[in-house]
Amino acid sequence: MVTLSVNGVECRYGSMKVLSGIELEVRTGDFIGIIGPNGSGKTTLLRSISRVLKPHVGSILIDKADVYSLKPLEVAKKMAVVPQDSTVGFNFSVMDVVLMGRNPHLGRFQMETPKDVEVARKAMELTNTWYLADRSVHELSGGERQRVIFARALAQEPKILLLDEPMSHLDLINQLEIMDLVKGLCVKNGLSVLAVIHDLNMAARYCDMILMLKDGQVFALGKAEEVLTSENIRSVFAVDAIVRKNLVTNSLYVIPLSPKRNSCEKKGTVHMICGAGTGTLLMKALVDEGYNVTAGVLNLLDSDFEACELLKIAAVTEAPFSPISDKSHALNLEMLENASMVVVTAVPFGFGNLRNLEVAKEALKRGIPTYVIDDVPVEKRDFTNGEATRLILELKEMGAIFVKHPYDLPSLLNSSINTSTVPAEPTNLAGHLK
Ligand code: ADP
Repeated sequence: MVTLSVNGVECRYGSMKVLSGIELEVRTGDFIGIIGPNGSGKTTLLRSISRVLKPHVGSILIDKADVYSLKPLEVAKKMAVVPQDSTVGFNFSVMDVVLMGRNPHLGRFQMETPKDVEVARKAMELTNTWYLADRSVHELSGGERQRVIFARALAQEPKILLLDEPMSHLDLINQLEIMDLVKGLCVKNGLSVLAVIHDLNMAARYCDMILMLKDGQVFALGKAEEVLTSENIRSVFAVDAIVRKNLVTNSLYVIPLSPKRNSCEKKGTVHMICGAGTGTLLMKALVDEGYNVTAGVLNLLDSDFEACELLKIAAVTEAPFSPISDKSHALNLEMLENASMVVVTAVPFGFGNLRNLEVAKEALKRGIPTYVIDDVPVEKRDFTNGEATRLILELKEMGAIFVKHPYDLPSLLNSSINTSTVPAEPTNLAGHLK
């Protein structure tokens, strides 16, 4: 059943139009996330629904009644709001603040009844704020205060809950607890929720539907799979992103790539010899730095191969757990033709992947600068009776550059391509992993 409908809403601040043509239906038990860049109109939409900013055009109906024709107290019985800013003007106790949520249900001059106190207590238990009951709201941390405001909204016993960035002050565990709580209330109690959420992964994980706003208009509305596509994210947030399905939570997850990727492309091609996850972070950092990256030979299902898929890196592959075949080896050698640099990570070597070191040797023969990362000494990851160690030593003799730490590599590569022009930007992998 539709509890809230937004019909062709246009909102203005003075003469500035900030929302137009907004259409939305919220049904009993829906959890709808509103996403969009700063200034796209998310808060304004919540303001217009919560009776703060009357639309210039269009209407907002709760249970078929226009919110602007209802009295504020009537609206407050049906709809509660958790605003972005959770400051409380007066120095009330937490219990008093939560009890304020009962005001719409009290008659004029009527004191709270034991039932009201009971509802408030339950809301506080759900939000883990009961232990704060006697404290002054002014003494609370931002996260505690946010949970108290949440409790006040629940004490209102609304049918519709509007949340404006409900997680902005919360740490990870509190974010998950609040989102689990809200979701549970939607599913079990039929609460309808409309929430502005910045974290696209949280929106994907918890919301039944997502409304994506751009420049005050609906850019997309639908299930996470329909709305959170790489194309939509690029169009609306101007960020390249990889979108995948999380096998554990079965929800989508979004990995934004650094905007740098768009701006400084084609610094050259780095061919990676890696495997077993030793190349993943480095590949991500190099892609972010604007390098074209290739890799080979990787076994299918190897975590570095999965990283190649996510980062859209071309890789030569071999069947799972199979040694490098002549064909894959030849393809790996072919990849050298486009490589301006080769990087050998501190991957363990067995007889299955030993041929990758032959490719590094070939790179040096062709005069391609080759970097060997040896943060783990080769002897410790050599499972070829010393053959890999011998080949790595040979690379050194042929002029390979040894790098103690993968963090150092991007700035080293930058300086090598910039030596004849400007000094290299200080870049390190740690910066990319923040
Ligand atoms: P979002 O929540 O998506 O960041 P807002 O709804 O807060 O976006 O703002 C939408 C647009 O309206 C922005 O351009 C913002 O500058 C403008 N705006 C927001 N509040 C006001 C206000 N009180 N007066 C004038 N303009 C405002």
